Amino acid sequence: MNHPERDDELVFLPLGGSGEIGMNFNAYGYGPPDDRKWIVVDCGVLFGRETTTPGVDLIMPDIRFLAEQRENVLAIVATHAHEDHIGAIPHLWPMLRCPVYATPFTAVLIEGKLEEAGLSAKVHPKRVPLSGRIELGPFALEFISITHSIPEPNAIAIRTPLGLIVHTGDWKIDPEPQVGEVTDIAALKALGDEGVLATVCDSTNALVAGESGSEARVREALTTLIGTLKGRVAVTSFASNVARLDTIARAAKAHGRQVALVGRAMHKITDAARQTGYLKGFPSIIDEAEAAQLPPNRVLYLCTGSQGEPRAALARIAEGNHPNVSLGKGDAVIFSSRVIPGNDIAIHELHNKLSLLGVEVLSADDHFVHVSGHPCRDELAEMYRWTRPQIAVPVHGEPRHQAEHARLALSLQVPQAIVPENGQLIRLAPGRAGVIDEVPSGRVYMDGRILIGEGAGLARHRRALAFAGMIAITLVLDGKGRVATEPSVIIEGIPEPVHDAIRNALDEPLKRHNPKRDLDGHDLKESVRRAARRAAENAWGKKPVTRVQVVQV
Ligand SMILES: [Zn+2]
Ligand SMILES: [Zn+2]
Repeated sequence: MNHPERDDELVFLPLGGSGEIGMNFNAYGYGPPDDRKWIVVDCGVLFGRETTTPGVDLIMPDIRFLAEQRENVLAIVATHAHEDHIGAIPHLWPMLRCPVYATPFTAVLIEGKLEEAGLSAKVHPKRVPLSGRIELGPFALEFISITHSIPEPNAIAIRTPLGLIVHTGDWKIDPEPQVGEVTDIAALKALGDEGVLATVCDSTNALVAGESGSEARVREALTTLIGTLKGRVAVTSFASNVARLDTIARAAKAHGRQVALVGRAMHKITDAARQTGYLKGFPSIIDEAEAAQLPPNRVLYLCTGSQGEPRAALARIAEGNHPNVSLGKGDAVIFSSRVIPGNDIAIHELHNKLSLLGVEVLSADDHFVHVSGHPCRDELAEMYRWTRPQIAVPVHGEPRHQAEHARLALSLQVPQAIVPENGQLIRLAPGRAGVIDEVPSGRVYMDGRILIGEGAGLARHRRALAFAGMIAITLVLDGKGRVATEPSVIIEGIPEPVHDAIRNALDEPLKRHNPKRDLDGHDLKESVRRAARRAAENAWGKKPVTRVQVVQV
């Protein structure tokens, strides 16, 4: 490792993943302030919500700060294949055009995304073997196997001339993960012995006491539970949790049930897992149509849609409009998953729809069918004991998770804890660590096929339209500014009884219009707009989005 130059600094810049669960995007910079080299660790998405961002599928970080100096961005490095860590790569890579590094399973899933985006000819993710090392300018990276809820999760040790950072990625301690490696505790302890400057760590479960629990216990419990069921069984889980899919398929086999995968993501993930050497003992799969021919107690469906996603397999089954799968009285659905905050309502609706069909709903509320993939407080304490950093940097969480994580780290004798906010440039070394600058940051939306800035007001405008509809009025004036014809009024999303009030309200400003003083209809346009909005508010209690245009003939 080279010695640092006089002006060199080591900085951390989160552009996503601080203050929220999702769209993780962390940059590390090294060099003098005017010529820093950057690496990006993870490049994820957040899913849009009908209530806050209607019509927006994906939300991503605004990375213009790095895009403007993309020749200095050396690589995107992915810790693991969850959407909140890799989902933005196909959308943001064109702004950075740098190499992408990942372990094989993650690389296969990134390749699939790049192919769908038409980028596979331009960038091939470089495959890093498990426990592999790569050199990127002033950064020397070492991948360290950990456990989580997907194959091949990695912590990344980042060595620089100014110190060693441990970026944990998403992790937990699971001595029996069922699929893949166990946490490489020896490697983490060795980093602690070497001397860690900063541990940048997952905060998701910082409010939860104890430990997250092992996938092995879920395997036992699910196997027992499935043995008690008599009719058709459908189990829904995150498709990316390959160990869980393996557990469910083996439990099915143990009770004489054949497994059918239902939902595109199930096939995509199991294919990627097989390609990279996982799921060796996975029972053979039958297709949906074949499963429909079997007696109810001989079949198990493994379905997407545990979060109530309206287009996923389970929602369609609950609606009774899935082409090959139907469930009813005597059947059961097991939700082997957690409720991601914000999805509660959709999931409860799904439970109710299934109950109306006579289907028994079993979930983590009353059965041991899920464990979290993130570290609880005892596990966080272990990480700090192993790595013994000078600085704790809690990321991947909402503000209260990060704040509690920081308090916990300090209580464990970590000398300093810094809770970062997206866009804050944090100097880790030399000198005492702290925020030294703020860079442009925020969110961008993938709306249909277009990436659009948050500043464009799209979400606010959509919410206004959804809340109170719209009125579009066209006024026609002749060359002397006189009203030539009746105005055309288009009303959308407003209750019928309000329409007449809106139309009638236009008489008054039209009567008052003085062509001599308002030849181009500028004032008329504004008075018509106000009259229409006021009429809607008086009749209805809501102010629609109102647009008026003047056409002069
Ligand atoms: Zn994850
Ligand atoms: Zn995550």
